[in-house]
Amino acid sequence: MAILEKKSSQHLIELEDKYGAHNYHPLPVVLNKGEGVYVWDVEGKKYYDFLSAYSAVNQGHCHPKIVGAMVNQAQTLTLTSRAFYNDKLGEYEKFATEYFGFDKLLPMNTGAEAVETALKLCRKWAYEKKGIPENEAQIIVCENNFHGRTTTIISFSNDEVARKNFGPYTAGFIKIEYDNLSALEQALESNTNVAGFLVEPIQGEAGVYVPSEGFLAKAKALCEKHNVLFLADEVQTGIARTGKLLAVDHENVKPDILILGKALSGGAYPVSGVLANDAIMGVIRPGNHGSTFGGNPVAAAVAVAALEVVRDEKLAENAEELGQLFRSELGKYIEESNIANLVRGKGLLNAIVINDSEDSDTAWNICVALKENGLLAKPTHGNIIRFAPPLVMNREQLLDCVSIIIKTLKEFEK
Ligand SMILES: *Cc1c(COP(=O)(O)O)cnc(C)c1O
Repeated sequence: MAILEKKSSQHLIELEDKYGAHNYHPLPVVLNKGEGVYVWDVEGKKYYDFLSAYSAVNQGHCHPKIVGAMVNQAQTLTLTSRAFYNDKLGEYEKFATEYFGFDKLLPMNTGAEAVETALKLCRKWAYEKKGIPENEAQIIVCENNFHGRTTTIISFSNDEVARKNFGPYTAGFIKIEYDNLSALEQALESNTNVAGFLVEPIQGEAGVYVPSEGFLAKAKALCEKHNVLFLADEVQTGIARTGKLLAVDHENVKPDILILGKALSGGAYPVSGVLANDAIMGVIRPGNHGSTFGGNPVAAAVAVAALEVVRDEKLAENAEELGQLFRSELGKYIEESNIANLVRGKGLLNAIVINDSEDSDTAWNICVALKENGLLAKPTHGNIIRFAPPLVMNREQLLDCVSIIIKTLKEFEK
């Protein structure tokens, strides 16, 4: 009994509450096991995971091939630092550059680090290739963006909770409305020193905002016209999540700088990276940038396995197919619903908008009820619930999940 008590959810939540910094507000569920599309709490209750660790676990929990590669490499060599070569990094770089179609990869660990890397790369390119006067480079970003948590990145966020009292902020960013081509055109025309345009192909954290069709392709064309780099933050949208390998693939856009993270490791290990061609990546020379763990052999082995799983198991095709089924099945219910306004998204990155004021806690309460009914999801900004299950889900499981969601929404109908 004593052991059971010690492992209870309540006890473990209290431990985090007492000894951990309060920088998150988790749903009250304590997980201790995951397999495929499922996770289990410490009391043994089984759930569908409909967050996938913010799209890091696209390949499903504890995928045997990814875990196998990780364990195997961890028993052989874990870290050399980049002071020396290791036998896995070059093979991974060759694999990843061929996989995504770029000349070079710069390996990092977390998404925010990869975004920082992309910003540094873009600025250096601007000074050394475009000829922008030193310290004058501007990077255009979008309102309601989410690119991570470092001091520079929150400098151009407009989420006050993420920003307030962390100043002074990094200069050199111009903010425009998302999905607004004329705002982009105007920003490009009225500023001579623009180095890049940083954009999420779908704004995930903001509430799964899908831009108008053609926005990405036209934005890329505008950037080309002004000799401005197009930086795609695909940390959340990339690696099959939206029904293509990359979300920019829906519009056949090739970014100048591609930022990846999260599912690059299938959630097994922190792996991120930036891809670009030689004309851009060539500005980076020894000493300009780095990370002790970036490009370590475990990360390299895990990333290769994670990308092979995406290709071999046709996860992009599955996400496309199940995403359409999800939106059409849920859409039918929502037409008659008072509590949900709409469902939107691409592939298996979707959200429903709850019919209540932005500051109400209805979305949170629905997520608590979903948990009781065996499905884990989390509200994003405003009254929006994001639905992003692992891409290894099958049709039967997805329909089961749609029933759970509908049954739960019914509990909240007015
Ligand atoms: C999660 C995320 C990041 C940050 O990644 P971390 O690994 O949490 O630092 C950056 N950009 C986007 C679009 C993300 O979703």
